Amino acid sequence: MHVHTTTSLRIHAFAINKLHDPNWTGMELYDELKQWWRGRREPKELFHKILKNGVLFHLGKIVFDEYHDYDSHLEKLEGEYKMWFLEEHIEFIKFHYPRRKKQQITAISEELTRIDKLYESDEHAYWTILESDKFYNWFLTQYFDLNSSRSSITSDVREAYAYDFSNRTFNDLPLCTHINKRIRDIGISSQIDDEPFEAWVKRTKIPKWAERAVVTRDNGLCVSCKRDLLREFTAPRHIDHIIPLKESGINDLVNLQLMCDKCNLKKKANELDPFTSIPDYLQVGLTRR
Ligand SMILES: [Zn+2]
Repeated sequence: MHVHTTTSLRIHAFAINKLHDPNWTGMELYDELKQWWRGRREPKELFHKILKNGVLFHLGKIVFDEYHDYDSHLEKLEGEYKMWFLEEHIEFIKFHYPRRKKQQITAISEELTRIDKLYESDEHAYWTILESDKFYNWFLTQYFDLNSSRSSITSDVREAYAYDFSNRTFNDLPLCTHINKRIRDIGISSQIDDEPFEAWVKRTKIPKWAERAVVTRDNGLCVSCKRDLLREFTAPRHIDHIIPLKESGINDLVNLQLMCDKCNLKKKANELDPFTSIPDYLQVGLTRR
């Protein structure tokens, strides 16, 4: 099962924006991850089926729920972006639920087509409508009504999105680094209910499949000096914890990267801005922090 791509990208942009917001991560993300993490029987389970059950997958689920529950991101959409957002949302519903709200969807499409045509015939009217309160209220009403049965967003779509989020994020090293720092910052690392961190996250041998995933993601190159570690058999390959375990890094696929032995010894943090992970056209209305 696949998630409607444009919506998926939009939720992804929403996630990155949210990950920059300390007020959000400070409470909900921390609490959610903590509860989820403590539910595991053994720390080594963190390495089992990571794309399915690891931090990124879980984070994907949290973000998906947030996106469909939390609507203030709609207020940030200006003019035409409201119209395009609604168009995309209709496509999302048609893609996942072809039989749902057909009449309403047809009516919305007709209205959007009517407004869109004005751009050619009467551009002034086009902009006046899009900037008006009337259009904004109509837009909100339609959006909420389309989502009136939120339980309608089935667990299948949610699960598919969480996979999508895992894969997309895992392939984005600056974003992985940011998430690791964020998780450390929110305190999951230090102490949980007076129980020392080391008591429930231990250094374990990195399984072969996780190593393969990291080597593939990093194209067999040291992430720092770009030395080809597949070709140069003499250079030892290190699977490095981006944030070291002793500095409260987490034992999860999101925190792993490929390095040569030399760079691993004199490691520098990867400080690329994860905000660049959002495509330009989706950055509209997002506040850069
Ligand atoms: Zn290197």
